[in-house]
Amino acid sequence: MSTSHALFAPGRTGCSFASLPATFYRQVRPRPLTEPRLLHANPAAAALLGLDAADLDSAAFLRLCSGQDGLPGVAPLATVYSGHQFGVWAGQLGDGRAHLLGDVAGPRGRFEIQLKGSGRTPFSRMGDGWAVLRSSVREYLASAAMAGLGIPTTQALALVASRDPVMRETLETAAVVTRLAPTFVRFGHFEHWAGSHDDQAALLCYVVRHWYPQCLVGPDAAPDLPATACQLLAEVCRRTARLIAQWQLAGFCHGVMNTDNMSILGLTLDYGPYGFMDTFQANHVCNHSDTQGRYAWNAQPAVARWNLYRLAGSLMVLGCVREDLEAALAPFEAEFLQAYHAGMARKLGLPDWRAEDVQLGDDWWALLHEQRADFTLAFRCLAADPAGASAWLALFADPAAARGWLARYRARLAQSPVPAPERRRAMDAANPLYVLRNHLAQQAIVAAQAGDGSEIERLMRLLAAPYAERPGFDAYARPPDANVLPVAVSCSS
Ligand code: AMP
Ligand code: MG
Repeated sequence: MSTSHALFAPGRTGCSFASLPATFYRQVRPRPLTEPRLLHANPAAAALLGLDAADLDSAAFLRLCSGQDGLPGVAPLATVYSGHQFGVWAGQLGDGRAHLLGDVAGPRGRFEIQLKGSGRTPFSRMGDGWAVLRSSVREYLASAAMAGLGIPTTQALALVASRDPVMRETLETAAVVTRLAPTFVRFGHFEHWAGSHDDQAALLCYVVRHWYPQCLVGPDAAPDLPATACQLLAEVCRRTARLIAQWQLAGFCHGVMNTDNMSILGLTLDYGPYGFMDTFQANHVCNHSDTQGRYAWNAQPAVARWNLYRLAGSLMVLGCVREDLEAALAPFEAEFLQAYHAGMARKLGLPDWRAEDVQLGDDWWALLHEQRADFTLAFRCLAADPAGASAWLALFADPAAARGWLARYRARLAQSPVPAPERRRAMDAANPLYVLRNHLAQQAIVAAQAGDGSEIERLMRLLAAPYAERPGFDAYARPPDANVLPVAVSCSS
């Protein structure tokens, strides 16, 4: 394996994860794609590494993102983690098809570079180590869509395709997504070491020293482990609560909120059968493999809290007492509600959120649910009220029911008067016009499968600025045609 000297000076690359005990990972090389083709590279993500347009065009970049080259002086590795999948302890999982190439110092700090779909590892279990183009396009676009919405997420740097065959329900082809994050440590990494004091202590100190220095209690050389663990838990709890509030407000369903898909940094992580809702259903389940509806939209906050309890449990080995762990998690609901209410106020154009607005908000969801109104457009079109009330009313099968809510909303607006143009501007900045609807992702997938990356490019540009109306892009703001079968997404990837 050669290295990408052209892209990064050796002094800028390293691998902090490899400072953990050797049991945390296995050194393993990616399996390069044959005849790789760069379908898309993301300049915004590249800037995090200090790469420019010329770098993205270089042969060295393609070699890096197709698994041919590593980073100078760094051995790629796969990490081990465990987790609860669909509420059940699944035991050891790990990077079964992901390779951590290392980390790079960039203008906004160090970012890890990870390939996904880059071949088997010691943690592949029964898997083939591949990812198909279909799911790779979905991950690539979703990362950019979330970043465009301002929602914390791992970033997608590049999408590389090949003709290597991969068997799923049908024969598909392989692709690799190159992802960036300050760290890819998951709740599942902590769960994996729940039975080993020394390993858990090493992981805790590693995470805290790099990303949560404010949580360190006691001297750096000999931290108070239980106190530090509780500080970390409290901070992860806050970040996770805020993240889920942002998901709810965007109509985003993750689809597989297993503990191994929960980022210790509170980032959206592992895009699989996710979905941005079209018609709103409070109990919408985007993942066809989720037959019980465990990860429905309205279940996400409670699931996140449940996952945080699994993280907390894994910290007991450090000597944390149950009461302290529970105290660290107790603010979850308040943190969630604060972020959620602040977000609802912005989306509804209210300068403040009052206790009595809770009912207006609950009735909003009930109205959308009963009328199966489009999530994104219901918010977006409300900004045009009163001048554009008819466009908003047209989103509801029974406009009379919507009129009742609208009258109460107008009365509420009158209590906190804001000049209409100003309110509209603020609401348009809080309610995207374009979201990554499944059928839009599907269009890009079909084109990509035919070798055409232009639809990915179009969506990347659109989703980077989802709040600004763009001439010529009306179709991208519309829900899918009612006569078109919905795209079914499952865990198959
Ligand atoms: P996910 O459902 O994608 O979060 O994956 C759960 C676990 O299965 C993780 O440990 C993945 O690395 C592993 N996995 C998923 N797909 C594959 C695959 N095709 N080959 C190897 N491991 C996989
Ligand atoms: Mg995963």
